[in-house]
Amino acid sequence: MRALGIALMLALTTVPVAASERLPIFDTHLHYSNPAWKPFPPKKALRVLQEAGVSRALVSSTPDDGSLTLQRFAPSRITPVLRPYHGAIGSSTWTKDPAIADYLADRLEERRYAGIGEFHLFDAADVESEAVRRTVALARARNLMIHVHSGAAPIEALFRVDPNVKILWAHAGMSEPAQLVGAMLDRPERRLGQRIIAVAVELHAAGPIEFVGGGEFE
Ligand SMILES: [Zn+2]
Repeated sequence: MRALGIALMLALTTVPVAASERLPIFDTHLHYSNPAWKPFPPKKALRVLQEAGVSRALVSSTPDDGSLTLQRFAPSRITPVLRPYHGAIGSSTWTKDPAIADYLADRLEERRYAGIGEFHLFDAADVESEAVRRTVALARARNLMIHVHSGAAPIEALFRVDPNVKILWAHAGMSEPAQLVGAMLDRPERRLGQRIIAVAVELHAAGPIEFVGGGEFE
């Protein structure tokens, strides 16, 4: 989702319900990236989340500073997830730059994150790159999950790199059929270890999507 995507979409597409009647939402996939900063400064962004019923959120941003800013304004509600993207490093380039692991390691030393991601893996072969292998090793060394936007093949490739890696699979039901997602989750070795959690997002079918600050679906 872009910027405040999920929360804003909920606010736009659901029938108004009194806040007291709604269950609190723990949003595991939220971005507060650069295009959202000006139209939605932190206090305004947090108000949007509150009105949408989001009481806790995992936030990753391009660049990471967006998540840290939001956390400073609401430390009990916002937990950062460390995204590799910054400057010229984006979804299609980060796997080609082994130095990205040094960037991630430095930031992981400085503060506490819930995981590393959300990052994109467009092909299972990308998982063999030094950048991805070192990122997986960083996550494992700190017992962090990785938040992955991909189809099923890169997920399987990640488990070949490290069968004990913990994965939050973004958009799991978007590009893969539910039967396949279900079968992957039901694999005994994964169920027992709780090593994979799928987030199935099909909001694009629920109505028109509006992105804060423009941008694209991620
Ligand atoms: Zn995303």
